[in-house]
Amino acid sequence: MQNESGMLILFSGPSGVGKDTLLDIILGKNELFQRSVSLTTREKRSGETDGVDYYFISKEKFIKMVDDGQVLEYAQYGDNIYGTPKAPVDKWLSEGKTVILKIEVKGAQKIRELYPDAVSIFLLPPSMQILEKRIRARGTENEQDIAKRLEIAKNEILRSADYDFVVINDKIDEAASNVLNIINSMNFTYKKMSNKISEVVKNV
Ligand code: 5GP
Repeated sequence: MQNESGMLILFSGPSGVGKDTLLDIILGKNELFQRSVSLTTREKRSGETDGVDYYFISKEKFIKMVDDGQVLEYAQYGDNIYGTPKAPVDKWLSEGKTVILKIEVKGAQKIRELYPDAVSIFLLPPSMQILEKRIRARGTENEQDIAKRLEIAKNEILRSADYDFVVINDKIDEAASNVLNIINSMNFTYKKMSNKISEVVKNV
């Protein structure tokens, strides 16, 4: 199902670990990088823009889009649903783009089944204490949401074993550079290079 020329990156990690900040750093580094904008039923946080951070839609619209086959995967997270719109991902892959999905662990598992060549990266906090501090510093969730997110975080971290790569976000620039190195190195796997190899030996 995955187009040979494109690459699909699954980027997961607990809430507050710094996925958005890291993506903001790496997205400008390569013109082929394309971040997928997800659908969500959650409320917009201050500073977020509809169509840029997420498509903020109603639960009814979400269900209708799922029924119409427009959603590649979706998962419940806390009290809300999040999902990946299908058409743009397939278009970008066919254009040879490196498509990056910010996605929680259940959605990542579904995508692995659909796109076995997807490369998965899990961003880990240095400790649960630091993670809690970061969520609190964001100041966007109430106590109940914070407790829920920390509980989900523990379960998500236990599923990091399903991922190809794990990067610790202690210093954000270092973590971003490690993620970039991983993505870049995936262009040099034997599978990615096999066409080139055939070309090289064509006239031997
Ligand atoms: P937040 O509310 O903090 O923006 O996101 C909550 C969780 O939903 C994060 O773990 C994030 O990775 C995940 N998420 C965001 N978009 C998607 C998506 O399209 N599909 C799935 N399955 N999870 C998503």
